[in-house]
Parts: sequence; structure tokens; C-alpha cells
Amino acid sequence: MIQRRHALVPPAPGTTRELLSLHYGPADAGRKAMIQASLHADEVPGLLVAHHLRRRLAQLEERGALLGEIVLVPFANPIGLAQRVLQSVEGRFDLTSGENFNRRYADLAPRACELLLPQLRAGGQPTVAMVRAAMLQACAELPAATELESLRRKLLSLAIDADVVLDLHCDNEAVLHLYTTPELWPDVEPLARLMSARAVLVADGSGDEPFDEACSLVWPRIAVELTRRLGRSVTLPPACAAVTVELRGEADVRHELADTDAEHIIQYLACRGLVLDAPVELPGLLCEPTPLAGSIPLDAPHGGVLVWLAEPGTQMRRGEPLVEVVDPSTGEATVLASPADGVFYARESRRFVFAGTRICKVAGREAVRSGRLLSD
Ligand SMILES: [Zn+2]
Repeated sequence: MIQRRHALVPPAPGTTRELLSLHYGPADAGRKAMIQASLHADEVPGLLVAHHLRRRLAQLEERGALLGEIVLVPFANPIGLAQRVLQSVEGRFDLTSGENFNRRYADLAPRACELLLPQLRAGGQPTVAMVRAAMLQACAELPAATELESLRRKLLSLAIDADVVLDLHCDNEAVLHLYTTPELWPDVEPLARLMSARAVLVADGSGDEPFDEACSLVWPRIAVELTRRLGRSVTLPPACAAVTVELRGEADVRHELADTDAEHIIQYLACRGLVLDAPVELPGLLCEPTPLAGSIPLDAPHGGVLVWLAEPGTQMRRGEPLVEVVDPSTGEATVLASPADGVFYARESRRFVFAGTRICKVAGREAVRSGRLLSD
């Protein structure tokens, strides 16, 4: 294993932070996976899964069972991990800019196309290796004036040439669910089976450039742009299976869970040809992918005490009661019903909320939303 420490741009003299990446297996085998934990720094389950992955990857490397490079970033957000406000970690938003740590990743397609065009004018199709080289260069050229920009650029540069990218997050209280693109579903389905995902939310762009989409959607974007610029059809495979893995809720931090998740991730890497391992029989699929635009959030109509009437993972029928919001000033309770048929997959962890707080999500089958599809 090679350990690399990447210095971030110091926000002020005397305050440097660094990002740690652990590199297992051969870097020259032409196969690569990148796994990062807790880009939202207060989402702790990923940190423990990374801890278990570390041990498992070291054992596999020792046995010579790694067929490609596995890059593990055991804590992806040293900035957020160190942000404290009144004794709580604020790991979702950068306190300096107010930006969500998992938004605004650069679209490398325009610059990568500029770099590829001279090689393609004479004809022929771009190879995956050519595109990756262009993307790495485009990534290296990204501006990084601030500490946050330097973190985003470094994370993207570790992932952009990978075949598999797993971004480990969690929700407040939730069952395990995944985010990816519709085109990648055949590649991601084994992961959904192995991890017993209860919802898979797919979108061709959620509108806010999260990390996984910056790695996956760049491929079709480059194909479209090259086709337009060259005036002939350019095709590219969806060469990066990038997935946001929501490891249940923020309090679901247990060795049994994390070790099993790590085992399933290794089995997925074996499915993808990155680990030499006895093939496992894939378990059954617990859900079909549903559009992210069909995931319907419920907002609290007024402030009050939340009393849940259903547990995450329940298959709801539209109109079935989900939660009561009890207003202590009037003594009245508002019952909110499921907005769709679908799995109730995530909910707020606090039990007192303000008016307008997003309190839960149900994965419906029909796309009913448009615009920005992720929560803030
Ligand atoms: Zn997150």
C-alpha cells in the first residue's frame, strides 16, 4: 500500500490541512476503483466502513489478489471534519462559503473536448485511455484558489480515471439506498444486490453537480460535445460506474454493519474484475431503480414535534399516514400522508422541527419533479 498525503491550499499562514489517500494493488494494470468516505464529514458510517476496507484491502494485497488499483480515501473531507459550531460538527456545508461539500464539482467535458479535438480531426473514435488522459489534464488545470477548491480538485483527480467510484454517505435515518445514472444501472445492479439496497434513485443529472455525477456524466457529455464539434458520430462507453452509497442513517455505526458493507464492496469489486476472489452468488434484488425526480420530499407544514407513524423501509401506499407534526402551542396535530406509492426510505433524525423542514422522502415510480433534484 502506498500512502499519499495531499496538501490543501492553506486558508491562512500556519494552518495547513491534508487529504490522505491509500493506494492498494497495481497502479499499472489498467483497472482502478476509488472509494471515499464521508465527503459530508458528519456522516460517520462511511468512516467505519473505510476502516474495515483498509484491513480487507491490506489482506487482499498481501495475497496478491488485487487485479487493479484501489484508491481508498478514508476521510474525504478534512475541512468539514474540523468544523465545529457550538460543540457540533458541521460537516455538510463549508462554513466559509456556505457551499455544500458534495455540490459544484467541475464539468470537465468542455476542456477535455478541447484537448481531444486535435487528435480526432483526422477521423477515428476516441479510446477510453485518451479520454482519461484528457480528463486528468483538464482536472489538473482547474483553479484552486481556496482550500475548498483544492479539496474538490484533488478528490476529482483521484477518481476521474477510475472504472468504479463509490462515494460513501448516509442520510439522517434511512434504509440503505444508492444514487446513480439510468445508463449505469446494469453496472450498478450487482452492488445494489450485494448491499441489499432498498431504493436506487437514478437521474441524468440532478442539477447540482455532486461528486458521483462529475465522474459518470462526463462520459456522455464528452461524446455529445465531440459529436457536435466534429460533425460526425462519436461514441463512448459509460466508463465510470460512479455511485453515491447512502449507508443507512447517521447513527447506524456498528462494526457488524460496517464490516459486512466492506465485504460487499469487495465482492462488488470482484464482480468488476478488480479483485481475484471466488465468485459469489448475487442475492436477490430488493428494489428496481426509480427516478430521482419521483422521490417526493415532505416538508413540515408548521413547527412542532415529529411523531413517526411508519418506519424507514416501509412500502407505502399514497395517502397512508406517515408522520404527525404536533404543535405544542395549539395542541393540534397535523397528519402527513405518503405522497406516492413507494418505499419510505429516509427521514429526519431530529424530533422537533421548524416550519418548512424537509422531514422525509418516499421513492415514487413516476417522475414528478424537475429542476434541482437533490436537497440542499
Ligand atoms: Zn451526504
